[in-house]
Amino acid sequence: MERFDLNTCKKVKEWLWKDVKRIVIIPHINPDGDAIGSAIGLNDVFKNAGFESCVIVPNDYPSYLSWLGHDGIPYIYEQCKEQCNRLIDRADALFFLDFNDAKRLGKLEEYLSLKTKPVVLIDHHPEPQIKAEYLFSDTDVSSTAELVYDFIKTVGMLDKLGIKGANALLTGIIADTGSFSHNASRPSTYSIVGELISRGADKDLINESLYNDFSEKRMRLLGYCLSEKMEIFPQYRAAMIWLTSEELKRYDFQIGDTEGFVNYPLSVKGIIFSAFFIQKHDHVKVSFRSKGSFATNEFSAAHFNGGGHKNASGGETNLSMNEAITLFRELLPQYSSLLIKDY
Ligand code: 5GP
Ligand code: MN
Repeated sequence: MERFDLNTCKKVKEWLWKDVKRIVIIPHINPDGDAIGSAIGLNDVFKNAGFESCVIVPNDYPSYLSWLGHDGIPYIYEQCKEQCNRLIDRADALFFLDFNDAKRLGKLEEYLSLKTKPVVLIDHHPEPQIKAEYLFSDTDVSSTAELVYDFIKTVGMLDKLGIKGANALLTGIIADTGSFSHNASRPSTYSIVGELISRGADKDLINESLYNDFSEKRMRLLGYCLSEKMEIFPQYRAAMIWLTSEELKRYDFQIGDTEGFVNYPLSVKGIIFSAFFIQKHDHVKVSFRSKGSFATNEFSAAHFNGGGHKNASGGETNLSMNEAITLFRELLPQYSSLLIKDY
């Protein structure tokens, strides 16, 4: 209750019960464990509470998260646009989860810009740029899944949270904290984890699905990245890894296979800033991670049309792969003082 403004909570609760029957929940493009987990968790609660609720993801998501879905949940917008558009047309409320910028709606952005539906935003990214009737935003929190738990509690629906929902929310928390290794120093996170486990969430199953369910090719791709494609810049405490389309094809790349690769260079002593570049069909996608004070979201916004959190952000560029990694190499000296500042 304390996390959100009490007046807003009261209003949203009244509005939900009085005016809302059909709900569409939408997390961000390239959905990760927190996006899928928080959306499916919230959806389960709404369904158990008697609402007509569904989840639409802008594009496909990693197969290691598919066990959280069921009965056509979630819909993938790029694969069934007409059906999704109809669901949006009929909705009384849209819930946006785990993003702060409408660009992260991908191809859904255009259709949604034509609609005037009430939006509830639940998110933990800084400075939300989204127009929303109700805003539940807290950058201090580990994950959107944790905020969704608080939201459910606030609107009095905690009794509707079953095993499916609890597993989904715990997946979000574990995924966004890297199994409680970062952004997980607040006692409230562990109180919520305790509540989720007491409702049947299976932390071992979640860890197995997130970290021990990869193909052999994916493991070999990781090995290849670390031995052949990791470039270290010790003078700037930085590193990068990049993968071309040809390399991805060679290792039979599947969505989600490179999740977490960007973190590995941070295990090298002294490295505090890591970048991962991956070729997509019409652009290069970039992920950034840091330790300490270096603000990767500012770096990403300034040079790679992106954003995110201070220590974990992403972006994309229309430059070629060679141009993108050359730009990165050339930018490092400009950031030298910030990179060697502390830690
Ligand atoms: P990842 O590197 O795992 O794709 O994303 C890490 C973080 O950066 C997430 O919080 C994600 O929301 C954010 N992020 C990733 N890509 C983009 C992007 O293209 N634009 C913005 N604004 N944020 C991004
Ligand atoms: Mn998140």
